[in-house]
Amino acid sequence: MPALDYFRKERLPHIWCPGCGHGAITGALVRAIEKLRIDKNKVVIVSGIGCSSRAVGYLDFDTLHTAHGRALAYATGIKLSRPELHVIVMTGDGDCTAIGGNHFIHAARRNIGITTIIMNNEIYGMTSGQYSPMTPKGMLGTTAPYGNLERPFDLCKLAIASGATYVARGTAYHVPLTIDIIEKALLNPGFSVVEAISGCPTYFGRKNKIGGAVEMLDWIKDSTINVKAAAVLPPEKVAGKVLIGELHSAPEAEYAALYMELIGRVQRRYDDYIGEVRECASNSD
Ligand code: SF4
Ligand code: MG
Repeated sequence: MPALDYFRKERLPHIWCPGCGHGAITGALVRAIEKLRIDKNKVVIVSGIGCSSRAVGYLDFDTLHTAHGRALAYATGIKLSRPELHVIVMTGDGDCTAIGGNHFIHAARRNIGITTIIMNNEIYGMTSGQYSPMTPKGMLGTTAPYGNLERPFDLCKLAIASGATYVARGTAYHVPLTIDIIEKALLNPGFSVVEAISGCPTYFGRKNKIGGAVEMLDWIKDSTINVKAAAVLPPEKVAGKVLIGELHSAPEAEYAALYMELIGRVQRRYDDYIGEVRECASNSD
C-alpha cells in the first residue's frame, strides 16, 4: 500500500470513531496526490478545528493545524510566500461555512491557488452534534432537538457564485469519484473546492436514527446522484437528490501569480527610480 508512505504511522491509530467518513476522504486525497506523483515536499496541508481537521496530524507532509475557521487565512499566507507549493486546506462544514465563512467566500473571489476539501458531515462532530450551516432542514442535532429550522447552504453553488474556478462534490461512499475530482482540483491553478459528503454515525446518524456506519453510507448513496446521470433523467427522478461529480470548471488567472507579477512591476519601477536618482546625483557632481 504505497499510500501508507503519506501517513505518519507513529501517530496512528487515529481518533476518529469507527465508521466515520473522514478516513475515506483523507485516503482519497492521499491517493489523488499519489496518482499525480506530486513531490510530497511540495505539498502543504492546512486545517482548522474539528474532527475533519485532525486529518493533518496523520499526514506526512508539511502540515499546520490552525485556529477555528482560519485555515484559509493561514493557507493564503503560505501561498503568497511560496506560490510554487500545492497548498491544500482540509476543513469541516462548521469550520468552513460558519466560523470561516467569510474567509471562504473571499478566497474564492480572489481565485487564490488553494485546493479546499470540505468534509461535510452536516453537523459539528467534535463538539457532540450541534447543527451547522450545512445541516439539512428538519434534521436533528444536539441544538436542534425538534428539527433544524434553518435552510442549509448549497456549498458548491456558494463557491461558484463567489468565484471559485473548480467546484465538485464527492462523498465518502463514492471514493473513486472523489479521488478523480480531487486530482482535477489539484491541477486547477486557481481556487478549487471539493465538497466531500462525509458520515458522522456517532452524532448525525444516531440523532437522526439513520443507523451505524453502513447505514450512513447507504444514506449518502441514496441521497445523491451523479450530475451526468441527472442530466438525462426526468426532473422527478432527480428531485431532492444532491448532485455529485464535477459541477464547475472555468480556469482563470490565479491570484498569487498576479501578485508576484505586481511585485515584479513595482520592483522594476523602484529600480528605475533609484537609477534616475543616482544619475541626477552624478550629473550634479
Ligand atoms: Fe467522525 Fe462524528 Fe466521530 Fe467526529 S464524532 S470522529 S465526525 S463519527
Ligand atoms: Mg462537521
